[in-house]
Amino acid sequence: MDATPPDAALPTDGAPAGRARTYAVRTYGCQMNVHDSERIAGLLEADGLIEAASEAEADVIVLNTCCIRENADNKLYGALGNLKALKEERPDLQVAVAGCLAQKDRELIQQRAAHVDVVFGTHNVHRATELLAHARRHGPVMEILEETVRDAADAFPSALPTKRDADHCAWVTIQIGCDNSCAFCIVPAVRGPEISRPFGELVLEVEGLASDGVTEVTLLGQNVNSYGRDLTTRLRSIDAGSADAFEAGERWVLEGRRRPRPLFADLLREVGAVEGIRRVRYTSPHPKDLRPETIAAMAETPSVCEHLHLPLQSGSDRVLAAMHRGYTAERYLERLAAARAGIEDLAVSTDVIVGFPGETDADFESTLEVAAEAGYDSAFAFVFSPRPGTEAADLEDEFVDHALCVERFERLQRVLRRSSRRSHEARVGRTEEILVEGPSKREPDQVTGRTRQNRLVHLPAAEGLRTGAYADVRITGAASHYLFGELLEVTASPRHRRRIPVASL
Ligand code: SF4
Repeated sequence: MDATPPDAALPTDGAPAGRARTYAVRTYGCQMNVHDSERIAGLLEADGLIEAASEAEADVIVLNTCCIRENADNKLYGALGNLKALKEERPDLQVAVAGCLAQKDRELIQQRAAHVDVVFGTHNVHRATELLAHARRHGPVMEILEETVRDAADAFPSALPTKRDADHCAWVTIQIGCDNSCAFCIVPAVRGPEISRPFGELVLEVEGLASDGVTEVTLLGQNVNSYGRDLTTRLRSIDAGSADAFEAGERWVLEGRRRPRPLFADLLREVGAVEGIRRVRYTSPHPKDLRPETIAAMAETPSVCEHLHLPLQSGSDRVLAAMHRGYTAERYLERLAAARAGIEDLAVSTDVIVGFPGETDADFESTLEVAAEAGYDSAFAFVFSPRPGTEAADLEDEFVDHALCVERFERLQRVLRRSSRRSHEARVGRTEEILVEGPSKREPDQVTGRTRQNRLVHLPAAEGLRTGAYADVRITGAASHYLFGELLEVTASPRHRRRIPVASL
């Protein structure tokens, strides 16, 4: 950790005369980062700033970075290069860099871009406004914590105020970090080991969201299936008491606390029972940790959506072992079959990496076979690209020729597209419930909604089809990535009220 004087008492002053200071947050990467950005925006608003109409007009610009995606550093330094001219024009502008890449690159960021005022990492999102205030008084600052302090009240982004993009749905971070060591992934290095949020705190948060009118929550974590294993391991060694039920939930305490175990299935049941919550989603589970209890909880909790994202990554046992994924293709398919057998009308999506170092033609053929057998409803395929700091990035001698990767990627895409089209076509003629997301980005006279199985549906706009409403639609057509529908009936109007929850600081 690079320690910074704790300027907790400093106000976020320096507002231009006659108007409130404004901010813009630019987000790179995954849902975890999107959610962190909501928290950063919430902190800034709690500190009196308002969202700028555009980045060019903002007094504070935060780039919330991700180092998982390809060329993340080039994109960041390109963006910072563009902001340099703006900073020269307006020296009062504050530029902050947050997120995974900040956690990894640390002082390098200000060495390469001296106009950056603040750098903070993944473990101290809660310090954003203090660091901005500190930088205004004393000049550029960089603060990176090595890990999250488990017992700090503000350790988790979800304990902070939020400025959500949508009012009817919300992300809920249930754990941070990851205890796995996938060879291609930088997450364990930048997010640290797994830490689960207390069970009771999550239920309270979802109850609060429901009372604000949120009807859909998505539980977020790097490996949600192992949520709670750290809590029950820790609690086994301390005295019993009612506080344990808050930490780990009633079910585990009533069990007699015989053994540490993940609590994800319990959480799905409890969160799914919160009044007003109509849909519960989650991402991402790890195939090796998909347990029968989770499948049962999904099947038996009506609000938990019939959608499972189960990352395959490769269909070759040799490559899976090199990736340290902890399952074979056969085991993966067994778990998938168990999920499909247990949950009626389940849709399954996946991630696949093509061209992991050392991947042979035979390995790739195995991936094609498993992908075809799995019959995914949707899938994300990626060509391997090395992430500095990961084990796979050091396997340069085994990198697969790029042209060959592209050829394999296109072959895989054909298989994936075929199965997703088939699965979409099977929905035509059916009645599906959608949650309206808003006007279609493609056609202004259409709206877009999402089914419980996470399929996008485009349909003609109609009275009552407002963002956040639920409706029954008949599916009239299918493409590989979306469906077409017609309205049968609006079944529920939006319930949300707009307000920013008060900080639990
Ligand atoms: S499970 Fe693997 S891929 Fe997922 S975050 Fe952990 S290390 Fe990365």
